[in-house]
Amino acid sequence: MGFDYAGRVERVTEAMRRYNVDTLLLSVGADMPWLFGYEAMPLERVTMAIVRSGARPVLVVPELEAPRVDDRGGVFDVVAWRELEDPIGIIADRIGTGVAIAMGDQTWTSFTLALQGRLGGRRWESAGPIMAEMRMVKEPEELDRLRAVGASADRVAARLADYGFEGQTERRVAADIAAMLVEEGHDTTWDVIVASGPNGASPHHEPGERVIRSGDPIVCDFGGTMAGYTSDTTRNFVVGTPPPDYREMFAVLVEAQETGVQAATVGTPCQEVDRVTRKVIEDARYGEFFIHRTGHGIGLEVHEAPYIVEGNALPLATGMVFSVEPGIYIPGRFGMRIEDIVIATDDGPHRCNNSTRELVIVE
Ligand code: ZN
Ligand code: ZN
Ligand code: ZN
Repeated sequence: MGFDYAGRVERVTEAMRRYNVDTLLLSVGADMPWLFGYEAMPLERVTMAIVRSGARPVLVVPELEAPRVDDRGGVFDVVAWRELEDPIGIIADRIGTGVAIAMGDQTWTSFTLALQGRLGGRRWESAGPIMAEMRMVKEPEELDRLRAVGASADRVAARLADYGFEGQTERRVAADIAAMLVEEGHDTTWDVIVASGPNGASPHHEPGERVIRSGDPIVCDFGGTMAGYTSDTTRNFVVGTPPPDYREMFAVLVEAQETGVQAATVGTPCQEVDRVTRKVIEDARYGEFFIHRTGHGIGLEVHEAPYIVEGNALPLATGMVFSVEPGIYIPGRFGMRIEDIVIATDDGPHRCNNSTRELVIVE
């Protein structure tokens, strides 16, 4: 099943009116795929979507990439620029005379600066707030895809209970997890995190040559995309006997994560989910070891709005999708994190990840 790109263009045009934006420009990143179902190659040759109220949307694309473009049944016009043409001039000519121009957040600075040099007397702003509002609340088909990719990641989590961690390097385990994700249906994987022993205290540890030994806790954080939508889950394993204090800390972490998930009801401010999760860890006096926000939105990108963080008073709405991933990181010793993707629904929080969150003892 496809997406209603014409409907999305209509919604964006309506939002532009509310935000007093005359022209919306999107390039590299996930905003353009969401709007047109086309992803710009992140290269020096510029690709740009131009949306103006009262004009047909345009996709300006390098001629050599034009064959990849599907105009979604005429939702937008395609303008292909030839290798020796001046694409910035071609884009500038189609921007119109409106003063307020909103640029996609991930647009290369070189494109923005070139356009600003060409067009005087405009007001430049970020398209981030508009695009976050558009993308944050998922459509039913997007929710289906997020549930499906989450279930695929869960199958990998289940397989890890029987995986022989001992004697493997982190790098090897990470490569095996990536391969398992593809076997279980993923199209792509992002850089899998496998952090063993003291490396677990670094939340975004890069898997290296450390060999996993008996007594090591292992944090595995993995995911990727299936049909364009992203998974992201974290599970914990211990080879043999856990280190002292590990089990009691882990019980606190399980409770914190569960508390956070259950708090993620429609209408609850994002920061409240962070607060209640953090409070469980603080009450157990491990607060100083929970060194990051509780979660992030997810969809076409692994990190997107809404962010589950202090200072974000945005109330959760039906169809928002985000991670709840508290962690406890003890420098020099070990770390632990439990991460599920959660959908806010009218019937309460719905988890996309349902593999066991309990500590898994492995060989
Ligand atoms: Zn992360
Ligand atoms: Zn995450
Ligand atoms: Zn993660």
